[in-house]
Amino acid sequence: MKAFYAQEQKRHDPKAFLSSGAAQPNPEKPERVERLLAGAKSAGCTIERPRDHGLGPVSAVHTPEYLDFLEHIFERWQRIDGASAEVIPNIHPIARNGSYPASAVGQAGYHIADTACPISGETWQSALWSAWSAAEAAETVMAGAPAAYALCRPPGHHAFADVAGGFCFINNSAVAAQILRRNAARVAILDVDLHHGNGTQGIFYARPDVLTVSLHADPVRFYPFFWGHADERGEGPGLGYNFNLPLPRKSADAAFLEALEVAFQRIRAFSPDALVVALGLDAFEGDPFGGLSVTTPGFSRIGEAIAERGLPSVIVQEGGYLCDALGDNLTAFLTGFGGKAR
Ligand SMILES: [Zn+2]
Repeated sequence: MKAFYAQEQKRHDPKAFLSSGAAQPNPEKPERVERLLAGAKSAGCTIERPRDHGLGPVSAVHTPEYLDFLEHIFERWQRIDGASAEVIPNIHPIARNGSYPASAVGQAGYHIADTACPISGETWQSALWSAWSAAEAAETVMAGAPAAYALCRPPGHHAFADVAGGFCFINNSAVAAQILRRNAARVAILDVDLHHGNGTQGIFYARPDVLTVSLHADPVRFYPFFWGHADERGEGPGLGYNFNLPLPRKSADAAFLEALEVAFQRIRAFSPDALVVALGLDAFEGDPFGGLSVTTPGFSRIGEAIAERGLPSVIVQEGGYLCDALGDNLTAFLTGFGGKAR
């Protein structure tokens, strides 16, 4: 299987992070890239650099206002006397349907959901190349490959059309799905990350052409708290095209695979022409976030179960944080997938 990654994706190196109000090192470290590259290579992937895809694929799922903000906010932030080294919001609108602030501080609050995604001078280019890796993988599948893997870092599934959140800036899975739509009437996105894919859900919430399905730790007591509940089913023409499967904390392989079967019942009824797998590896039992208890062999079985559906698949890296098995978990998923792929 081809894998896509550009070295620019490693430059973003966020420092700040708050966990229950306490300052901690940011877990979305560049070192994740090394582990994931090693994991992809062990699974037999060849790593290729994506082309520069311009802003087209990104602006297809994000507002121009937001993209302009992402590109320029760091430079503007630096002009504020005494400002922090990274862009971090300190005020958020309760409702986002009012006026648009002119100040950098106001816009940071408007466009950034939480303190997990500080923006530095490298963030825009890293996020853009991450999205281009997803775009290249999607084009590879459109050209006839049964599957391709995008080593997307920074990840993307918490990014809405105009909001960054949870380590995410550009929604790489949404970028891939929108590209697949050029040839495919219907595209399904299956998100197996530990956390609910709230940004992806938000982008496609009112659309019937992209089915969004997410398996994740129950947000009633877990990030992202305000999204990911079973009663979120889509809206307007998209009603019935969003499906959330919240799982009890510490759910292990059997429960995860059972939920995956339920997810595929819905996906089968949608009859998609192509699939995007939002592949978080943080559902792992040893992941620092500790929300679910999927094992390394479990990821292999998840990969098998997805490949068995025989859908052209773009596999997009989402979460999965530093722990000894991070690379092995990617190898397990890709090997399981490859073993069952047609
Ligand atoms: Zn996650």
